[in-house]
Amino acid sequence: MPVLVYTENAGGKFKKSIFEVVSYAKAIADAQSTTLTAISIGDVSADDLALLGKYGADKVLNVSADKLKNFVNQAYASVIAEAAKSEGADIVVLSNSFSGRGLAPRVGAKLDAGVADGAVSLPELSGGKFSIKKTAFSGKAFAVVELTSAKKVIALTPNSYQVVDKGTSAKVEDFSVDVKESDFKAMLKEIVRSTDKISLPDADIVVSGGRGLKGPENWGMVEELANLLGAATACSKPVSDAGWRPHSEHVGQTGIAVSPNLYIAIGISGAIQHLAGISRSKVIVVINKDPEAPFFKVADYGIVGDAFEVVPKLIEAVKAYKATA
Ligand SMILES: Cc1cc2nc3c(=O)[nH]c(=O)nc-3n(C[C@H](O)[C@H](O)[C@H](O)COP(=O)(O)OP(=O)(O)OC[C@H]3O[C@@H](n4cnc5c(N)ncnc54)[C@H](O)[C@@H]3O)c2cc1C
Repeated sequence: MPVLVYTENAGGKFKKSIFEVVSYAKAIADAQSTTLTAISIGDVSADDLALLGKYGADKVLNVSADKLKNFVNQAYASVIAEAAKSEGADIVVLSNSFSGRGLAPRVGAKLDAGVADGAVSLPELSGGKFSIKKTAFSGKAFAVVELTSAKKVIALTPNSYQVVDKGTSAKVEDFSVDVKESDFKAMLKEIVRSTDKISLPDADIVVSGGRGLKGPENWGMVEELANLLGAATACSKPVSDAGWRPHSEHVGQTGIAVSPNLYIAIGISGAIQHLAGISRSKVIVVINKDPEAPFFKVADYGIVGDAFEVVPKLIEAVKAYKATA
């Protein structure tokens, strides 16, 4: 019984989170002494499909029907469920991305499978039990869930598992499914990006500003630091509520959840609602003039100081480092 992994693409390309999910699914397949089949839906080049082999897929099913070019939740769920049936896969793994969060319960319903969304670690297999640690309460806590059903769907939180280059290769096969018309009730027509900047949920580095920056006119240094680091910019809720920054940058419980390798928080107090959106960051750097700011409790590195003095110095240090690197 192979493990099946759904590998979503963005404009025909796989993001790093997809290589993470393939590596994660491979580790599950290894633990079950079985193989890993990947399924890709949409227009992806043969070279990109072959890349999935590098991270552990033994076989890639390529679904490239015209009707399925754009993401359609119901239809994609049907295709993934049919692929799982045809492969005899008991475990389906996907990314806990925007589309993955919609697909996981649908695929679960179609396969009569238990679903663990927001998984952050490999399943624990002991005494015949299959348990997984996952995020709960908008990222404010973790829960361990046991999947007792024969079939299982797992949606992996981005940045919770490292990409493992296996150096192997996969054979690519075409796969077609007769998808019912009723699966196309809501069609995605077009994606209009609000900005050309690095997408916040996928960013490796995020530079974020809060009310401590006093006003929108002071965001120049945040943007300069972000540009130097190849980072996305973000902000706290009051900042976007005040119109200093666009709502698309608002991070937290009621905004976007990010999971970068590095999150730099400048002039943000660290309220629990903000932390809910950033708790999956690997390294957190906090710059705040108040040593009692709650953000310091979760920081890996903290700088107690005035942002208007610290950030320009940081910019100069990064410039100096880049000049010698
Ligand atoms: C239901 C609900 C949902 C919410 N959802 C979210 C959410 O999704 N995201 C979110 O962010 N918030 C959310 N909030 C709001 C949250 O509770 C906080 O009010 C908010 O996060 C505070 O934003 P802030 O840290 O930018 O501002 P403040 O709390 O005003 O903190 C500003 C910080 O800047 C520091 N500072 C001031 N001047 C300087 C300086 N010169 N240099 C360095 N540091 C300085 C201060 O010491 C302070 O710590 C929510 C609230 C509720 C009730």
